[in-house]
Amino acid sequence: MNQPAESKIESVPMWINGRAVNPGGVRMGGVFNPATGQVARRVPYASAAVVDEAVKAATAALADWRQWPPLRRARVMQRFLRLMEENQPALARIVTSEHGKTIADAMGSVQRGMEVAEFACGIPQLLKGEHSENVGTQVDTHSLRQPVGVCAGITPFNFPVMVPMWMFPMAIACGNAFILKPSEKVPSASVRMAELFKQAGLPDGVFNVVHGDKECVDALLAHGGIHAVSFVGSTPIAKYIYETAARAGKRVQALGGAKNHAVVLPDADLEFTADALIGAAYGSAGERCMAISAVVAVGAAADPLVALLSKKAQAIRIGPGDRDGIEMGPLVTAQHRDKVASYVDQGVKEGAKLVADGRGFSVKGHEDGFFLGTTLFDEVRPEMTIYRDEIFGPVLIVLRVATLEEAIALVNRNPYANGVAIFTESGGAARRFENEIQVGMVGVNVPIPVPVAYYSFGGWKNSLFGDLHVHGVESVKFYTRTKVVTTRWPHQDTPAPGFHMPTLG
Ligand code: NAD
Repeated sequence: MNQPAESKIESVPMWINGRAVNPGGVRMGGVFNPATGQVARRVPYASAAVVDEAVKAATAALADWRQWPPLRRARVMQRFLRLMEENQPALARIVTSEHGKTIADAMGSVQRGMEVAEFACGIPQLLKGEHSENVGTQVDTHSLRQPVGVCAGITPFNFPVMVPMWMFPMAIACGNAFILKPSEKVPSASVRMAELFKQAGLPDGVFNVVHGDKECVDALLAHGGIHAVSFVGSTPIAKYIYETAARAGKRVQALGGAKNHAVVLPDADLEFTADALIGAAYGSAGERCMAISAVVAVGAAADPLVALLSKKAQAIRIGPGDRDGIEMGPLVTAQHRDKVASYVDQGVKEGAKLVADGRGFSVKGHEDGFFLGTTLFDEVRPEMTIYRDEIFGPVLIVLRVATLEEAIALVNRNPYANGVAIFTESGGAARRFENEIQVGMVGVNVPIPVPVAYYSFGGWKNSLFGDLHVHGVESVKFYTRTKVVTTRWPHQDTPAPGFHMPTLG
Protein backbone atom coordinates (compact mmCIF):
# COMPACT_ATOMS: atom_id res chain seq x y z
CA MET A 1 0.00 0.00 0.00
CA ASN A 2 1.33 3.42 -1.00
CA GLN A 3 0.65 5.26 2.26
CA PRO A 4 1.74 8.95 2.58
CA ALA A 5 4.34 9.74 5.26
CA GLU A 6 2.85 10.21 8.73
CA SER A 7 4.00 13.85 8.93
CA LYS A 8 2.13 14.76 5.71
CA ILE A 9 -1.23 13.62 7.08
CA GLU A 10 -3.32 16.51 8.40
CA SER A 11 -5.14 16.13 11.67
CA VAL A 12 -8.79 17.02 12.19
CA PRO A 13 -9.15 19.58 15.00
CA MET A 14 -11.76 19.64 17.72
CA TRP A 15 -13.96 22.73 18.08
CA ILE A 16 -14.21 24.25 21.54
CA ASN A 17 -15.44 27.71 22.48
CA GLY A 18 -15.67 28.92 18.88
CA ARG A 19 -12.26 27.87 17.65
CA ALA A 20 -10.37 24.89 16.27
CA VAL A 21 -8.18 23.22 18.87
CA ASN A 22 -5.57 20.48 18.60
CA PRO A 23 -5.05 19.27 22.15
CA GLY A 24 -1.62 17.83 22.85
CA GLY A 25 -0.85 14.72 24.85
CA VAL A 26 -3.92 12.77 23.71
CA ARG A 27 -4.28 9.52 21.78
CA MET A 28 -4.62 9.82 17.99
CA GLY A 29 -6.53 7.65 15.52
CA GLY A 30 -6.45 7.24 11.75
CA VAL A 31 -9.31 8.27 9.45
CA PHE A 32 -9.45 6.17 6.28
CA ASN A 33 -10.51 6.99 2.77
CA PRO A 34 -12.48 3.76 2.22
CA ALA A 35 -12.12 3.89 -1.57
CA THR A 36 -8.31 3.84 -1.42
CA GLY A 37 -7.85 2.05 1.88
CA GLN A 38 -5.37 4.70 2.98
CA VAL A 39 -5.26 6.77 6.14
CA ALA A 40 -6.29 10.20 4.85
CA ARG A 41 -6.37 12.15 8.14
CA ARG A 42 -5.60 11.74 11.79
CA VAL A 43 -7.94 12.55 14.62
CA PRO A 44 -7.18 13.34 18.27
CA TYR A 45 -9.18 11.44 20.90
CA ALA A 46 -10.43 13.66 23.73
CA SER A 47 -9.43 12.80 27.28
CA ALA A 48 -11.65 13.61 30.27
CA ALA A 49 -9.73 16.90 30.64
CA VAL A 50 -10.59 17.95 27.07
CA VAL A 51 -14.24 17.01 27.62
CA ASP A 52 -14.22 19.12 30.78
CA GLU A 53 -12.88 22.08 28.79
CA ALA A 54 -15.75 21.72 26.30
CA VAL A 55 -18.33 21.46 29.11
CA LYS A 56 -16.92 24.61 30.74
CA ALA A 57 -17.16 26.51 27.43
CA ALA A 58 -20.72 25.27 26.86
CA THR A 59 -21.79 26.12 30.42
CA ALA A 60 -20.42 29.65 30.14
CA ALA A 61 -22.12 30.23 26.77
CA LEU A 62 -25.43 28.79 27.95
CA ALA A 63 -26.07 31.56 30.48
CA ASP A 64 -26.48 34.17 27.73
CA TRP A 65 -27.75 31.97 24.88
CA ARG A 66 -30.78 30.68 26.80
CA GLN A 67 -31.88 34.30 27.28
CA TRP A 68 -31.80 35.17 23.57
CA PRO A 69 -35.28 35.68 22.14
CA PRO A 70 -36.16 32.55 20.15
CA LEU A 71 -36.65 34.73 17.08
CA ARG A 72 -33.04 35.91 17.28
CA ARG A 73 -31.89 32.32 17.68
CA ALA A 74 -33.99 31.43 14.63
CA ARG A 75 -32.26 34.12 12.59
CA VAL A 76 -28.86 32.58 13.35
CA MET A 77 -30.33 29.25 12.25
CA GLN A 78 -31.56 30.80 8.98
CA ARG A 79 -28.07 32.10 8.21
CA PHE A 80 -26.58 28.70 9.11
CA LEU A 81 -29.07 27.05 6.74
CA ARG A 82 -28.04 29.35 3.89
CA LEU A 83 -24.36 28.56 4.53
CA MET A 84 -25.15 24.85 4.62
CA GLU A 85 -26.89 25.18 1.24
CA GLU A 86 -23.88 26.98 -0.25
CA ASN A 87 -21.55 24.36 1.18
CA GLN A 88 -23.69 21.30 0.45
CA PRO A 89 -21.46 19.95 -2.37
CA ALA A 90 -18.30 20.47 -0.30
CA LEU A 91 -19.86 18.75 2.71
CA ALA A 92 -21.00 15.86 0.51
CA ARG A 93 -17.42 15.46 -0.74
CA ILE A 94 -16.18 15.29 2.86
CA VAL A 95 -18.83 12.64 3.63
CA THR A 96 -17.79 10.56 0.61
CA SER A 97 -14.10 10.87 1.38
CA GLU A 98 -14.49 9.45 4.90
CA HIS A 99 -17.58 7.23 4.63
CA GLY A 100 -17.31 6.01 1.03
CA LYS A 101 -20.93 6.49 -0.13
CA THR A 102 -21.59 8.05 -3.53
CA ILE A 103 -21.63 11.84 -3.90
CA ALA A 104 -25.31 11.81 -4.96
CA ASP A 105 -26.23 9.82 -1.87
CA ALA A 106 -24.11 12.10 0.33
CA MET A 107 -25.82 15.17 -1.19
CA GLY A 108 -29.21 13.67 -0.32
CA SER A 109 -28.17 12.94 3.25
CA VAL A 110 -26.85 16.49 3.76
CA GLN A 111 -30.18 17.75 2.39
CA ARG A 112 -32.15 15.66 4.89
CA GLY A 113 -30.01 17.08 7.68
CA MET A 114 -30.54 20.64 6.47
CA GLU A 115 -34.29 20.08 6.61
CA VAL A 116 -34.01 19.73 10.39
CA ALA A 117 -32.30 23.14 10.57
CA GLU A 118 -35.13 24.44 8.37
CA PHE A 119 -37.67 23.08 10.87
CA ALA A 120 -35.65 24.62 13.73
CA CYS A 121 -36.10 28.06 12.12
CA GLY A 122 -39.72 27.86 13.31
CA ILE A 123 -38.62 27.64 16.96
CA PRO A 124 -40.61 30.70 18.18
CA GLN A 125 -43.81 28.90 17.22
CA LEU A 126 -42.61 25.54 18.58
CA LEU A 127 -41.72 26.95 22.01
CA LYS A 128 -45.12 28.53 22.64
CA GLY A 129 -46.63 27.49 25.95
CA GLU A 130 -50.22 27.32 27.17
CA HIS A 131 -52.26 29.79 29.18
CA SER A 132 -55.48 29.32 31.09
CA GLU A 133 -57.30 32.24 32.62
CA ASN A 134 -59.24 31.70 35.86
CA VAL A 135 -58.11 28.22 36.83
CA GLY A 136 -59.44 29.44 40.20
CA THR A 137 -61.09 32.72 41.07
CA GLN A 138 -58.72 35.33 39.62
CA VAL A 139 -55.95 32.74 39.42
CA ASP A 140 -54.23 32.08 36.07
CA THR A 141 -51.87 29.32 34.91
CA HIS A 142 -49.35 29.31 32.08
CA SER A 143 -46.64 26.91 30.97
CA LEU A 144 -43.13 27.61 29.69
CA ARG A 145 -40.66 25.48 27.76
CA GLN A 146 -37.13 26.15 28.98
CA PRO A 147 -33.84 24.68 27.75
CA VAL A 148 -32.50 21.61 29.54
CA GLY A 149 -28.93 22.96 29.76
CA VAL A 150 -25.77 21.52 28.21
CA CYS A 151 -26.65 18.64 25.88
CA ALA A 152 -24.34 16.06 24.31
CA GLY A 153 -24.78 14.15 21.05
CA ILE A 154 -22.93 10.94 20.20
CA THR A 155 -23.32 9.84 16.60
CA PRO A 156 -22.50 6.87 14.31
CA PHE A 157 -20.29 6.69 11.22
CA ASN A 158 -22.96 6.16 8.61
CA PHE A 159 -24.43 9.68 8.33
CA PRO A 160 -21.66 12.17 9.19
CA VAL A 161 -23.88 15.23 8.57
CA MET A 162 -27.48 14.07 8.80
CA VAL A 163 -27.48 12.28 12.15
CA PRO A 164 -25.65 15.09 14.02
CA MET A 165 -28.19 17.44 12.43
CA TRP A 166 -31.05 15.36 13.83
CA MET A 167 -29.80 16.69 17.17
CA PHE A 168 -27.86 19.94 17.41
CA PRO A 169 -30.06 22.37 15.40
CA MET A 170 -33.10 21.57 17.53
CA ALA A 171 -31.15 21.53 20.81
CA ILE A 172 -29.51 24.87 20.05
CA ALA A 173 -32.70 26.50 18.74
CA CYS A 174 -34.38 25.49 22.02
CA GLY A 175 -31.73 27.54 23.89
CA ASN A 176 -29.33 24.77 24.95
CA ALA A 177 -25.57 24.58 24.45
CA PHE A 178 -24.35 21.45 22.67
CA ILE A 179 -21.30 19.17 22.61
CA LEU A 180 -21.14 16.81 19.63
CA LYS A 181 -19.01 13.65 19.66
CA PRO A 182 -19.17 12.42 16.06
CA SER A 183 -17.91 8.99 15.04
CA GLU A 184 -14.13 8.96 15.10
CA LYS A 185 -14.31 7.25 11.67
CA VAL A 186 -15.87 10.35 10.05
CA PRO A 187 -14.88 13.39 12.14
CA SER A 188 -14.35 16.17 9.57
CA ALA A 189 -17.90 17.17 8.56
CA SER A 190 -18.86 18.07 12.15
CA VAL A 191 -15.99 20.51 12.48
CA ARG A 192 -16.89 22.11 9.14
CA MET A 193 -20.48 22.57 10.35
CA ALA A 194 -19.21 24.19 13.55
CA GLU A 195 -17.19 26.68 11.48
CA LEU A 196 -20.27 27.51 9.38
CA PHE A 197 -22.41 27.95 12.49
CA LYS A 198 -19.91 30.44 13.90
CA GLN A 199 -19.91 32.26 10.55
CA ALA A 200 -23.72 32.42 10.85
CA GLY A 201 -23.38 34.34 14.13
CA LEU A 202 -23.60 31.58 16.74
CA PRO A 203 -21.89 32.76 19.94
CA ASP A 204 -18.71 30.92 20.92
CA GLY A 205 -19.22 27.91 23.16
CA VAL A 206 -22.84 27.20 22.15
CA PHE A 207 -21.72 24.43 19.77
CA ASN A 208 -18.61 22.35 20.45
CA VAL A 209 -17.15 19.26 18.81
CA VAL A 210 -14.96 16.73 20.62
CA HIS A 211 -13.60 13.58 19.01
CA GLY A 212 -12.80 10.22 20.45
CA ASP A 213 -13.88 6.73 21.40
CA LYS A 214 -15.17 5.10 24.58
CA GLU A 215 -12.92 7.18 26.85
CA CYS A 216 -14.41 10.41 25.51
CA VAL A 217 -17.98 9.06 25.57
CA ASP A 218 -17.58 7.86 29.16
CA ALA A 219 -16.26 11.29 30.18
CA LEU A 220 -19.37 12.91 28.64
CA LEU A 221 -21.68 10.43 30.38
CA ALA A 222 -20.03 10.96 33.76
CA HIS A 223 -19.75 14.75 33.60
CA GLY A 224 -22.07 16.48 36.04
CA GLY A 225 -22.27 19.55 33.79
CA ILE A 226 -24.11 17.67 31.03
CA HIS A 227 -27.87 17.43 31.42
CA ALA A 228 -29.09 15.49 28.38
CA VAL A 229 -27.58 12.93 26.01
CA SER A 230 -28.76 12.00 22.52
CA PHE A 231 -27.19 8.89 21.02
CA VAL A 232 -27.49 7.12 17.68
CA GLY A 233 -25.52 3.93 16.99
CA SER A 234 -25.59 0.18 17.49
CA THR A 235 -27.94 -1.50 19.98
CA PRO A 236 -25.38 -2.73 22.57
CA ILE A 237 -23.84 0.75 22.82
CA ALA A 238 -27.28 2.44 22.82
CA LYS A 239 -28.31 0.30 25.77
CA TYR A 240 -25.05 1.09 27.58
CA ILE A 241 -25.47 4.83 26.95
CA TYR A 242 -29.09 4.76 28.10
CA GLU A 243 -28.33 2.93 31.33
CA THR A 244 -25.16 4.87 32.17
CA ALA A 245 -26.53 8.33 31.38
CA ALA A 246 -29.83 7.64 33.18
CA ARG A 247 -27.95 6.39 36.24
CA ALA A 248 -26.02 9.68 36.22
CA GLY A 249 -29.35 11.52 36.33
CA LYS A 250 -29.37 12.75 32.74
CA ARG A 251 -32.21 12.89 30.27
CA VAL A 252 -31.38 10.39 27.52
CA GLN A 253 -32.59 9.16 24.15
CA ALA A 254 -30.53 6.36 22.57
CA LEU A 255 -31.37 5.08 19.11
CA GLY A 256 -30.00 1.64 18.30
CA GLY A 257 -29.52 -0.78 15.43
CA ALA A 258 -32.03 -2.34 13.08
CA LYS A 259 -33.18 -5.29 11.02
CA ASN A 260 -35.67 -3.76 8.63
CA HIS A 261 -38.07 -6.08 6.86
CA ALA A 262 -39.92 -5.61 3.59
CA VAL A 263 -43.01 -7.78 3.34
CA VAL A 264 -43.92 -8.47 -0.29
CA LEU A 265 -47.40 -9.76 -1.08
CA PRO A 266 -48.14 -11.69 -4.28
CA ASP A 267 -50.31 -8.84 -5.63
CA ALA A 268 -47.42 -6.31 -5.52
CA ASP A 269 -45.97 -4.85 -8.72
CA LEU A 270 -42.83 -6.97 -8.55
CA GLU A 271 -40.70 -4.98 -11.00
CA PHE A 272 -41.36 -1.77 -9.01
CA THR A 273 -40.85 -3.63 -5.74
CA ALA A 274 -37.54 -5.18 -6.81
CA ASP A 275 -36.20 -1.78 -7.91
CA ALA A 276 -37.25 -0.26 -4.58
CA LEU A 277 -35.67 -3.11 -2.61
CA ILE A 278 -32.39 -3.01 -4.52
CA GLY A 279 -31.91 0.70 -3.71
CA ALA A 280 -32.97 0.19 -0.10
CA ALA A 281 -30.76 -2.87 0.48
CA TYR A 282 -27.57 -1.94 -1.34
CA GLY A 283 -27.64 1.88 -1.38
CA SER A 284 -24.85 3.27 0.79
CA ALA A 285 -23.48 -0.33 0.76
CA GLY A 286 -26.26 -1.30 3.17
CA GLU A 287 -24.79 0.96 5.87
CA ARG A 288 -28.07 2.68 6.66
CA CYS A 289 -30.09 2.18 9.81
CA MET A 290 -33.19 2.16 7.59
CA ALA A 291 -31.71 -0.16 4.93
CA ILE A 292 -33.95 -3.07 4.03
CA SER A 293 -31.96 -6.13 5.05
CA ALA A 294 -34.65 -8.83 5.18
CA VAL A 295 -37.31 -9.48 2.54
CA VAL A 296 -40.31 -11.53 3.64
CA ALA A 297 -41.77 -12.96 0.45
CA VAL A 298 -45.35 -14.11 0.83
CA GLY A 299 -46.61 -17.13 -1.18
CA ALA A 300 -46.24 -16.88 -4.95
CA ALA A 301 -44.27 -13.62 -4.75
CA ALA A 302 -41.07 -15.47 -3.81
CA ASP A 303 -39.79 -17.14 -6.99
CA PRO A 304 -40.26 -14.23 -9.42
CA LEU A 305 -39.06 -11.70 -6.81
CA VAL A 306 -35.83 -13.60 -6.07
CA ALA A 307 -35.13 -13.87 -9.82
CA LEU A 308 -35.56 -10.11 -10.25
CA LEU A 309 -33.48 -9.26 -7.16
CA SER A 310 -30.68 -11.56 -8.28
CA LYS A 311 -30.48 -9.97 -11.74
CA LYS A 312 -30.65 -6.40 -10.41
CA ALA A 313 -28.24 -6.95 -7.47
CA GLN A 314 -25.53 -8.22 -9.78
CA ALA A 315 -25.97 -5.28 -12.19
CA ILE A 316 -25.12 -2.63 -9.55
CA ARG A 317 -22.10 -0.52 -10.50
CA ILE A 318 -19.63 -0.61 -7.61
CA GLY A 319 -16.62 1.70 -7.29
CA PRO A 320 -15.26 4.84 -5.61
CA GLY A 321 -18.13 7.04 -4.44
CA ASP A 322 -16.77 10.14 -6.16
CA ARG A 323 -16.70 8.52 -9.61
CA ASP A 324 -19.52 9.27 -12.10
CA GLY A 325 -22.06 6.52 -12.66
CA ILE A 326 -21.19 4.58 -9.51
CA GLU A 327 -24.18 3.31 -7.53
CA MET A 328 -22.49 1.69 -4.54
CA GLY A 329 -19.22 2.60 -2.82
CA PRO A 330 -16.95 0.70 -0.44
CA LEU A 331 -17.61 -0.14 3.22
CA VAL A 332 -16.30 2.16 5.91
CA THR A 333 -13.27 0.17 7.13
CA ALA A 334 -11.42 -3.03 6.29
CA GLN A 335 -12.48 -4.43 9.64
CA HIS A 336 -16.17 -3.80 8.90
CA ARG A 337 -15.84 -5.20 5.36
CA ASP A 338 -14.29 -8.39 6.78
CA LYS A 339 -17.02 -8.67 9.41
CA VAL A 340 -19.73 -8.40 6.76
CA ALA A 341 -17.94 -10.99 4.58
CA SER A 342 -17.76 -13.33 7.59
CA TYR A 343 -21.57 -13.16 7.85
CA VAL A 344 -21.75 -14.41 4.26
CA ASP A 345 -19.50 -17.37 5.26
CA GLN A 346 -21.79 -18.00 8.23
CA GLY A 347 -24.93 -17.90 6.08
CA VAL A 348 -23.49 -20.53 3.75
CA LYS A 349 -22.43 -22.65 6.73
CA GLU A 350 -25.90 -22.53 8.28
CA GLY A 351 -27.52 -23.68 5.03
CA ALA A 352 -29.03 -20.54 3.46
CA LYS A 353 -29.14 -20.55 -0.35
CA LEU A 354 -26.49 -18.18 -1.72
CA VAL A 355 -27.92 -16.58 -4.86
CA ALA A 356 -25.33 -13.81 -5.37
CA ASP A 357 -21.92 -13.80 -3.66
CA GLY A 358 -20.15 -10.47 -3.04
CA ARG A 359 -17.04 -11.93 -1.41
CA GLY A 360 -13.68 -11.43 -3.07
CA PHE A 361 -14.86 -8.42 -5.08
CA SER A 362 -12.29 -5.75 -5.96
CA VAL A 363 -12.15 -2.61 -8.09
CA LYS A 364 -9.32 -2.23 -10.62
CA GLY A 365 -6.90 0.46 -9.47
CA HIS A 366 -8.49 0.44 -6.00
CA GLU A 367 -7.41 -2.99 -4.81
CA ASP A 368 -6.77 -1.67 -1.28
CA GLY A 369 -10.24 -0.08 -1.03
CA PHE A 370 -12.76 -1.65 1.33
CA PHE A 371 -15.04 -2.99 -1.39
CA LEU A 372 -17.46 -5.87 -1.19
CA GLY A 373 -19.86 -7.03 -3.89
CA THR A 374 -23.59 -7.46 -3.45
CA THR A 375 -24.79 -10.63 -1.73
CA LEU A 376 -28.26 -12.16 -1.90
CA PHE A 377 -29.46 -15.13 0.16
CA ASP A 378 -32.71 -17.02 -0.36
CA GLU A 379 -34.48 -19.57 1.88
CA VAL A 380 -33.17 -17.99 5.07
CA ARG A 381 -34.74 -19.23 8.29
CA PRO A 382 -35.36 -17.07 11.40
CA GLU A 383 -32.92 -19.04 13.57
CA MET A 384 -29.96 -18.33 11.25
CA THR A 385 -27.30 -15.82 12.34
CA ILE A 386 -27.71 -13.78 9.15
CA TYR A 387 -31.34 -13.15 10.15
CA ARG A 388 -30.78 -12.62 13.88
CA ASP A 389 -27.87 -10.17 13.63
CA GLU A 390 -27.71 -6.72 12.10
CA ILE A 391 -25.11 -7.14 9.33
CA PHE A 392 -24.95 -3.48 8.18
CA GLY A 393 -23.54 -4.22 4.74
CA PRO A 394 -24.61 -5.11 1.17
CA VAL A 395 -26.23 -8.41 2.13
CA LEU A 396 -29.94 -8.95 1.46
CA ILE A 397 -31.72 -12.05 2.73
CA VAL A 398 -35.06 -13.50 1.68
CA LEU A 399 -37.34 -15.45 4.00
CA ARG A 400 -40.40 -17.24 2.63
CA VAL A 401 -43.77 -17.40 4.41
CA ALA A 402 -47.25 -18.51 3.28
CA THR A 403 -49.51 -15.70 4.53
CA LEU A 404 -49.66 -12.05 5.63
CA GLU A 405 -50.42 -13.26 9.21
CA GLU A 406 -47.17 -15.24 9.25
CA ALA A 407 -45.25 -12.27 7.86
CA ILE A 408 -46.61 -9.93 10.54
CA ALA A 409 -45.87 -12.46 13.30
CA LEU A 410 -42.30 -12.92 12.02
CA VAL A 411 -41.60 -9.18 11.95
CA ASN A 412 -43.15 -8.70 15.39
CA ARG A 413 -40.98 -11.44 16.91
CA ASN A 414 -37.80 -9.63 15.86
CA PRO A 415 -36.25 -7.64 18.71
CA TYR A 416 -35.32 -4.77 16.38
CA ALA A 417 -38.13 -2.44 15.32
CA ASN A 418 -36.76 0.57 13.48
CA GLY A 419 -38.35 0.54 10.00
CA VAL A 420 -40.53 -1.83 7.99
CA ALA A 421 -42.26 -1.75 4.61
CA ILE A 422 -45.08 -3.59 2.88
CA PHE A 423 -45.42 -3.91 -0.89
CA THR A 424 -48.95 -4.60 -2.09
CA GLU A 425 -51.77 -3.29 -4.25
CA SER A 426 -54.30 -4.07 -1.49
CA GLY A 427 -55.39 -1.17 0.70
CA GLY A 428 -56.98 -3.60 3.16
CA ALA A 429 -53.77 -5.59 3.62
CA ALA A 430 -51.72 -2.40 3.98
CA ARG A 431 -54.12 -0.98 6.55
CA ARG A 432 -54.04 -4.17 8.61
CA PHE A 433 -50.24 -4.23 8.41
CA GLU A 434 -50.01 -0.61 9.57
CA ASN A 435 -52.27 -1.38 12.51
CA GLU A 436 -50.68 -4.63 13.70
CA ILE A 437 -46.99 -4.17 13.01
CA GLN A 438 -44.87 -3.32 16.09
CA VAL A 439 -42.29 -1.07 14.44
CA GLY A 440 -41.64 2.66 14.76
CA MET A 441 -41.57 3.70 11.09
CA VAL A 442 -43.73 2.03 8.43
CA GLY A 443 -43.65 2.35 4.64
CA VAL A 444 -46.45 1.35 2.31
CA ASN A 445 -44.81 0.76 -1.08
CA VAL A 446 -42.05 3.02 0.30
CA PRO A 447 -38.94 0.99 1.17
CA ILE A 448 -37.15 3.50 3.42
CA PRO A 449 -39.84 5.41 5.29
CA VAL A 450 -37.58 8.00 6.95
CA PRO A 451 -39.96 10.66 8.28
CA VAL A 452 -39.45 14.23 7.06
CA ALA A 453 -38.00 16.72 9.56
CA TYR A 454 -41.37 17.97 10.84
CA TYR A 455 -42.30 14.44 11.93
CA SER A 456 -40.18 12.57 14.47
CA PHE A 457 -37.74 9.73 13.72
CA GLY A 458 -37.31 6.70 15.92
CA GLY A 459 -37.87 2.99 16.29
CA TRP A 460 -39.39 0.76 18.95
CA LYS A 461 -38.02 -2.09 21.10
CA ASN A 462 -34.23 -2.61 20.74
CA SER A 463 -34.01 0.20 18.20
CA LEU A 464 -34.70 2.94 20.76
CA PHE A 465 -33.99 3.25 24.46
CA GLY A 466 -35.85 6.21 25.90
CA ASP A 467 -39.22 7.76 25.29
CA LEU A 468 -38.81 10.48 22.71
CA HIS A 469 -37.78 10.30 19.07
CA VAL A 470 -35.39 12.70 17.34
CA HIS A 471 -36.37 15.82 15.37
CA GLY A 472 -39.94 17.03 14.88
CA VAL A 473 -42.06 18.04 17.85
CA GLU A 474 -40.69 15.19 20.01
CA SER A 475 -37.25 16.81 19.93
CA VAL A 476 -38.70 20.06 21.30
CA LYS A 477 -39.99 18.00 24.21
CA PHE A 478 -36.62 16.29 24.64
CA TYR A 479 -34.57 19.49 24.58
CA THR A 480 -36.85 21.51 26.88
CA ARG A 481 -38.29 21.22 30.37
CA THR A 482 -41.80 22.34 31.05
CA LYS A 483 -42.44 24.78 33.84
CA VAL A 484 -46.00 25.58 34.92
CA VAL A 485 -46.65 28.90 36.65
CA THR A 486 -49.78 29.66 38.68
CA THR A 487 -50.41 33.37 39.30
CA ARG A 488 -52.60 35.43 41.62
CA TRP A 489 -52.35 39.18 42.24
CA PRO A 490 -53.28 39.73 45.90
CA HIS A 491 -54.43 43.35 45.62
CA GLN A 492 -57.54 42.09 43.83
CA ASP A 493 -60.70 41.46 45.82
CA THR A 494 -60.04 37.76 46.48
CA PRO A 495 -60.18 35.62 49.60
CA ALA A 496 -56.85 35.09 51.44
CA PRO A 497 -55.10 31.77 50.84
CA GLY A 498 -56.18 29.09 53.34
CA PHE A 499 -54.54 25.97 54.79
CA HIS A 500 -56.53 23.38 52.88
CA MET A 501 -55.92 22.04 49.37
CA PRO A 502 -57.35 24.69 47.01
CA THR A 503 -60.24 23.57 44.82
CA LEU A 504 -62.02 25.23 41.94
CA GLY A 505 -64.29 28.14 42.70
P1 NAD B 1 -21.39 2.33 17.17
O1 NAD B 1 -22.43 1.97 18.16
O2 NAD B 1 -20.19 1.46 17.05
O3 NAD B 1 -20.82 3.80 17.46
C1 NAD B 1 -21.69 4.88 17.66
C2 NAD B 1 -21.00 5.92 18.54
O4 NAD B 1 -20.69 5.34 19.80
C3 NAD B 1 -19.67 6.42 17.96
O5 NAD B 1 -19.58 7.80 18.17
C4 NAD B 1 -18.64 5.64 18.74
O6 NAD B 1 -17.43 6.37 18.91
C5 NAD B 1 -19.31 5.42 20.08
N1 NAD B 1 -18.89 4.16 20.71
C6 NAD B 1 -18.52 3.02 20.09
N2 NAD B 1 -18.23 2.07 20.99
C7 NAD B 1 -18.42 2.61 22.21
C8 NAD B 1 -18.30 2.11 23.54
N3 NAD B 1 -17.91 0.86 23.79
N4 NAD B 1 -18.60 2.94 24.56
C9 NAD B 1 -19.00 4.20 24.33
N5 NAD B 1 -19.13 4.72 23.08
C10 NAD B 1 -18.85 3.94 22.04
O7 NAD B 1 -22.14 2.47 15.76
P2 NAD B 1 -21.49 2.72 14.33
O8 NAD B 1 -20.81 1.48 13.89
O9 NAD B 1 -20.76 4.00 14.29
O10 NAD B 1 -22.83 2.93 13.47
C11 NAD B 1 -23.59 1.88 12.96
C12 NAD B 1 -24.73 1.52 13.87
O11 NAD B 1 -25.55 2.66 14.11
C13 NAD B 1 -25.66 0.48 13.29
O12 NAD B 1 -26.01 -0.42 14.29
C14 NAD B 1 -26.86 1.28 12.84
O13 NAD B 1 -28.08 0.57 12.76
C15 NAD B 1 -26.92 2.33 13.89
N6 NAD B 1 -27.67 3.49 13.45
C16 NAD B 1 -28.93 3.64 13.97
C17 NAD B 1 -29.69 4.70 13.56
C18 NAD B 1 -31.08 4.89 14.09
O14 NAD B 1 -31.68 5.89 13.77
N7 NAD B 1 -31.61 4.00 14.90
C19 NAD B 1 -29.17 5.63 12.65
C20 NAD B 1 -27.88 5.45 12.16
C21 NAD B 1 -27.14 4.36 12.58
